[in-house]
Amino acid sequence: MSQTKLLSLEEIYQLALEKLLNAGADNHNASILAELLRKAERDGSHSHGLFRLPAYIAGLKSGKINGTARAESSIITPSFIRVNGNRGFAPTAHLEAIPKLVTAARQTGVAIAAIHQCFHMAALWPEVEAIAEAGFAGIACTNYLPSVAPAGSTKAFFGTNPLAFAWPRPSSTPIVYDMATAAMALGDVQVAARDNKKVPLGTGLDSEGQATTDPSAIAKGGVLLPFGGYKGSGLSMMVELLTAGLTGETFSDETKARDNADGGPPIGGQFLLALSPDIIAVDDWKTHCDQFFERMSGLPGQGVRLPGERRHKNRLSSDPRQINIELLNKINAL
Ligand code: NDP
Repeated sequence: MSQTKLLSLEEIYQLALEKLLNAGADNHNASILAELLRKAERDGSHSHGLFRLPAYIAGLKSGKINGTARAESSIITPSFIRVNGNRGFAPTAHLEAIPKLVTAARQTGVAIAAIHQCFHMAALWPEVEAIAEAGFAGIACTNYLPSVAPAGSTKAFFGTNPLAFAWPRPSSTPIVYDMATAAMALGDVQVAARDNKKVPLGTGLDSEGQATTDPSAIAKGGVLLPFGGYKGSGLSMMVELLTAGLTGETFSDETKARDNADGGPPIGGQFLLALSPDIIAVDDWKTHCDQFFERMSGLPGQGVRLPGERRHKNRLSSDPRQINIELLNKINAL
């Protein structure tokens, strides 16, 4: 069991803010990112909270990430917004993209935002949840560096390529499904390696192309696998196409060639979609869908839990959070 230290949510925010400011981010960018990390720790998204701070700092220090970026957007058609992250952190681009996306979807029923030139390494639930909280169904995806072998291969080609979906529930918290299309997110494999834990067979291959349960063998020289064989592989390919083919950004295998390997996130694109049930659905979609979720939750068996519920429950507590001491030492040494 790894050793932890209790930090309040405010201490988590201040720690991240201070390190980001020291690494050259301006207050605008540092506070947006520090807030994202605070939210991740608050919700128990450990692999995308403070755990990611060293990588963000590495990207700032190497000059790859522009810590003073301001994203810019152009409304290309009434339902399509193109957003240039200007080599900044993805959450800064989201602040520009999401209000315009939901304004467009409110008018047209469906809108997309195609983001390019941004650095994403975070969970996707913050963006789809923001879309759902504004009353829309949201879909988001992004690609990464090659780390997942497509079904039938032993060579990394796809990113871990997360895909997220959120559904608005005006009387409750949104349903939020946010997953890597890899059998396991790279962050979780790294956390398992740090904590000396095994991972399930099918998570990845070692450097010899052999199946392994050792997360270090996967993280160092090995390769991840998509979840569900060719099915996850197909979804991962879809993420590549929406994120790179559609936005004009690079596919994961192309991204590697222009990354400086500083350990920070790679530059790339992101696809966001907002759909308005108020415009598209038949009358009283809210009750119709609430009843669907009620029937689903009441099904016999061990108990169905709705995705997003775990994080929303964690969120209710304002208690300090357990932070890994090894990680804190690493952050303090930055
Ligand atoms: P998980 O497998 O932990 O969870 C995937 C989804 O399934 C979540 O929405 C979760 O909801 C839900 N879920 C989990 N268990 C259950 C259950 N028993 N019943 C119903 N729903 C359940 O996520 P991953 O490990 O695949 O991904 C982790 C994070 O990594 C994601 O946030 C993803 O965006 C991020 N990521 C980011 C990348 C990037 O480059 N930016 C790359 C790859 C991943 P709940 O939240 O409520 O637990």
